[in-house]
Amino acid sequence: MIGFDLSDDHKLLERTVAEWAARDVAPRIRELDRAHTFDRSLLPQLAELGLLGVSIPEKYGGAGMDYLSLGIACESLEYVDTSLRVILSVHAGLNCLTLLSWGTEAQKQRYLVPQAQGKRIGTYALTEPAAGSDVRGIQSIAVASAGGFRISGEKMWISLADVADHFLIFAWTDLEKKRQRDPSGLSAFIVERSFPGFSSGTLTHKWGILAGNTGFLKLDNVEVPRENLLGEEGEGFKIAMFALDQGRFTVAAGATGLIRACRDASARYALERKAFGVEIAQHQLVKEMIARMESDYQASRLLWLRAGWLKNTGQRNTRETGLAKWFATVASERAAGDAVEIHGANGYSDEYPVGRFYRNCKGAVIYEGTREIHALMQADYVLGYRVDRPIRCELPPHHE
Ligand SMILES: Cc1cc2nc3c(=O)[nH]c(=O)nc-3n(C[C@H](O)[C@H](O)[C@H](O)COP(=O)(O)OP(=O)(O)OC[C@H]3O[C@@H](n4cnc5c(N)ncnc54)[C@H](O)[C@@H]3O)c2cc1C
Repeated sequence: MIGFDLSDDHKLLERTVAEWAARDVAPRIRELDRAHTFDRSLLPQLAELGLLGVSIPEKYGGAGMDYLSLGIACESLEYVDTSLRVILSVHAGLNCLTLLSWGTEAQKQRYLVPQAQGKRIGTYALTEPAAGSDVRGIQSIAVASAGGFRISGEKMWISLADVADHFLIFAWTDLEKKRQRDPSGLSAFIVERSFPGFSSGTLTHKWGILAGNTGFLKLDNVEVPRENLLGEEGEGFKIAMFALDQGRFTVAAGATGLIRACRDASARYALERKAFGVEIAQHQLVKEMIARMESDYQASRLLWLRAGWLKNTGQRNTRETGLAKWFATVASERAAGDAVEIHGANGYSDEYPVGRFYRNCKGAVIYEGTREIHALMQADYVLGYRVDRPIRCELPPHHE
């Protein structure tokens, strides 16, 4: 990226993903959403497009594209449906990029390569029934055993819980530090679905992202070999936060796509629908909502592009990525609410897509740091209470 221009490769990717999603997913998405069905046949198609390893180097089975490309893919996918973008967030963002930065060569060969090729799916499991924002409150424990660790615990609200083959799991390895809530007692593990004692299930009562899979995991004394410890023992908290820097980037770009979808659907409808003798687009208060969608879209896009550029150039971007995620998700909620408003009663039915946008946008305001957690983070940066310290493994820069 030079100046504000995307490269020809970026533009080609944007066009390719948008055309695929419009042709192969958009006509079916309402039915998938109505039926609460995750369509597994989308996975080989995403793999075929190179998206499941989009920013992973070719030597590890990926497409070798830069981090902006991951954002472009996310924005283009969420323009059609949030559930598509979530696949990239947890698999390509939270999981693959974390393995790329923190994995040993053996772990990369065993897990990252098949994931980047799309032959296996990975996800990220931090949240538990009693702890989301408060990571120090998780209860899962990993006790040392002859071959490695035995993990017990429960994870909740995990995207692709019933779909993924590999899971990034976080658990306490130091029980004294758990008692003291000292995060240096947490460790990260790569857990396979096939490990005895592991089970999962789907949450059937959620009301958004209905074409996506979200569920729970149960770990009942799951024996995990020592070579599946990711990073060093005690680095789990840093790894969890590092992963969120990548996941939040994908969520920011995706929410930007959702705002654009709200804007375009609203403009279309406002030009067709008539009230008081004119198309509703003529009414100034309707124009104001559309104008706000446009400014929110443009601002959100600039914020995630900046975060992606920082990633490409190897610069720390926790603050900028967090700001992009916070701004874009909150703006997407505003845009979706206004899109429903512009559609009137029709917005309240699923005959039009904006009702689905309205249900889907809220998840992203909550996951990967709630609106309040991000507000606190941004204020703390400004006030000097929060400073990013160097970490042992950064994302490898991607220079063209
Ligand atoms: C659709 C969906 C998919 C998800 N996918 C995943 C996944 O793949 N992997 C995963 O690990 N998790 C996932 N999550 C979980 C998500 O990350 C958590 O829900 C989120 O971190 C918030 O945690 P919580 O739900 O426990 O809310 P809580 O932490 O209990 O927060 C409840 C409320 O209290 C507020 N609050 C909490 N602490 C503070 C504070 N210090 N100051 C001010 N306000 C505060 C919050 O902002 C919020 O408004 C998913 C969630 C959803 C909805």
